[in-house]
Amino acid sequence: MLGFDLTEEQRMIQKTAHDFAAKELRPIALECDRDETYPVDLIRKGHEAGLISFHFPEEYGGAGVSDRVSWTLVREELAWGCPGLCIAMMASNLAAVPILHMGSQEQKAKYLTCLTDPQKPVLAAMAMTEPDAGSDVSSIRTTARKQGGRYILNGRKTFITNGGIADVTVVYCRMEGSKGLEGMTAFIIDGKPQGFSMGKKEEKMGIRASHTSELILEDVEVPEADRLGGEGEAFLLSMRMFDESRIMVASLALGIARAALEIAVEYAGQRSQFGKSLNKFEGISFKLSDMAMRLDAARLLTWRAAWLATQGKRMTKESAMAKCYAAEAAHWICDQALQVLGGYGYMREYLVEKLCRDSRIFRIFEGTSEIMRLIVSRELYRN
Ligand SMILES: Cc1cc2nc3c(=O)[nH]c(=O)nc-3n(C[C@H](O)[C@H](O)[C@H](O)COP(=O)(O)OP(=O)(O)OC[C@H]3O[C@@H](n4cnc5c(N)ncnc54)[C@H](O)[C@@H]3O)c2cc1C
Repeated sequence: MLGFDLTEEQRMIQKTAHDFAAKELRPIALECDRDETYPVDLIRKGHEAGLISFHFPEEYGGAGVSDRVSWTLVREELAWGCPGLCIAMMASNLAAVPILHMGSQEQKAKYLTCLTDPQKPVLAAMAMTEPDAGSDVSSIRTTARKQGGRYILNGRKTFITNGGIADVTVVYCRMEGSKGLEGMTAFIIDGKPQGFSMGKKEEKMGIRASHTSELILEDVEVPEADRLGGEGEAFLLSMRMFDESRIMVASLALGIARAALEIAVEYAGQRSQFGKSLNKFEGISFKLSDMAMRLDAARLLTWRAAWLATQGKRMTKESAMAKCYAAEAAHWICDQALQVLGGYGYMREYLVEKLCRDSRIFRIFEGTSEIMRLIVSRELYRN
């Protein structure tokens, strides 16, 4: 059976997220973009509203919501409020996912519980990318060397969301002497041990409220108890995690696209030129129709991938399709919205200019559009 009605629980989650975005994110979106910052209290408020770690198991402080469609609804609403602030709020989940998937009971109890505590909100980061290893994660050079009951990590990570400001960082390394993917191993870095520091803080085109920086690891000691999974197990597991996280990235793109479409529809209904409102011109109304069609197509792809993930089914192709299509649709829709607003759309004081800049990253992080197409084409020849 196929149905598109949201359940009562899904509608409730969606409304909670929308109300939060309208009250806490949208009003400060332009200011936080300009200043490249976000209010520290935002994470606490997000936890209190139950919007950050609602998908964690209850024993670790979450609400145990396993329905991925609900996860997408929350992200769409928060990104509708402000993509940069939404990413600042949700970035810790990028690190929580490997802990959920690969962590021991002790690691989950220690790290996930603190990530859900609204009283003392903790930030986390996930560090995979390196200066010479972006799309090709198999070429990471950060090494781990076993020495007694600990590991010594050395290397450099780049473009890391929450990098250097996080209290917990999941770092992907290769075991010293290993080749290709076989030695890839993940570690949890607790706090800021000696030798672990923040490098350059990046100045970004969009999602400027979120923090992005380099990480430097110089003989960082990590106890064996903080290795995630076994030595060499991190690559396969992380690829499975990316299948899921791409659905969430697609959901953020939906929020941006919807925000831009809403602004364009409202503006075209109010602005008059040549004696009638802009939406009465076919050149503009067809643009709005195309924007709405692409948004719906992106959402349907995203919900399908989310549904498959909830069923525990393989969705490598579907999540790559959703991420690629939603990212490209969002950027195109924002650009069309800017065109509908004419000169006003180009000005910083209107949200569309910012949404255009924010939307651009979605074709790059969590796997570029080219890599998504590579995944889809490989899946077409699978079996
Ligand atoms: C704002 C921001 C936040 C980020 N946050 C994180 C984070 O928290 N943690 C983390 O680990 N990483 C993070 N990243 C890194 C991000 O995932 C990488 O930038 C991304 O994977 C692309 O890698 P790259 O930038 O090195 O580009 P490259 O891999 O060098 O690619 C450059 C171009 O070549 C294309 N290309 C590469 N290989 C192929 C191929 N086989 N076929 C066709 N085209 C190809 C790419 O599609 C792209 O267009 C972040 C990046 C940004 C910009």
